Amino acid sequence: MFLDIEAHAKTVHKIRTLKQKHNVVMLGHNYMEPLVFGLSEKEEQGDSLGLSMYASKTEAPYLIFNGVPFMAETAKILNPSKTVLVADKTAGCSLADNYGAEDVKELKALYPGVPVMIYVNSYADAKAESDICCTSANAAHIAKMMPGDTIIFVPDILFAQNLEEELNKDNTARGAICEVHEKFTLDDLLGIRESFEIPKGHPCRKLYAHWECRPNVLKEADFYGSTSQIMKDIAERVAANQLERAFVASECELTSNLAQEFPEVQFWTACSVRCSHMAQVSLGKIAKILEAIDQNADLGEYEITLSPEVIDKARTPIERMLEASV
Ligand code: SF4
Repeated sequence: MFLDIEAHAKTVHKIRTLKQKHNVVMLGHNYMEPLVFGLSEKEEQGDSLGLSMYASKTEAPYLIFNGVPFMAETAKILNPSKTVLVADKTAGCSLADNYGAEDVKELKALYPGVPVMIYVNSYADAKAESDICCTSANAAHIAKMMPGDTIIFVPDILFAQNLEEELNKDNTARGAICEVHEKFTLDDLLGIRESFEIPKGHPCRKLYAHWECRPNVLKEADFYGSTSQIMKDIAERVAANQLERAFVASECELTSNLAQEFPEVQFWTACSVRCSHMAQVSLGKIAKILEAIDQNADLGEYEITLSPEVIDKARTPIERMLEASV
């Protein structure tokens, strides 16, 4: 990390200086590489839910969202008067890209009257067709509040299957999968337990899995949940002196950031499990946005724009989620 900082010192300095000069809020998703993640203040770092809530309250004129565009859209919807910018507007997501507004409409026509809960990992126009939004941190809680025994949950099929098992609700699973979390198999986890000596039930060695992993991976994990829930469990165990070794079945830069935050824990990584979309965000691209702001140049290459109609329609399911999460 220190070598990295030295190599990129000039760029990091430029970003920090211009960020302060123009009062820019820089939101950093947990899956950003440590150098990019570290550009955000502690309160500007987090998962989708935390960052959405932070974005809704900020007074700063510019928001740079270090994540993929669907995340920045949520910030724009919650604070439409602000200029929301991303390093790479072409960075996608295997969930959001493969399930859109037309797919939601089709499903609603097939199951009239069944409430639609949409995962935050989707684009604004798909959210606009849904009843309520959720993140991995609050999906189980919100699904329990939904009326009736059946809900439509899109677009994450594996997450839908996991919720179905957890809640005993019928779920009309349609959609796509997270190409990152899908990579972990039960065999991988069993191999990790053996090679890294993390036996099931060990008091101080834990194997964590994200909600977006396969159902049998969740069953094998010692703890499963959202990014923030996993981080909370780790922090509590560290405070109680109950965590010496951990493996987190999720995006590998999350583990890099956890290793920085909790140096007393020996983290093992699966560093090939990197989200290629999140990896599009780089120091160089972030510096270019700030230079454009500084030179009062056109920000079209970076700015998230949504029609007023989509903002209006998509805000309702997101606000319902935020109310339900309080
Ligand atoms: S890790 Fe990447 S592919 Fe998976 S949900 Fe997040 S952005 Fe999408």
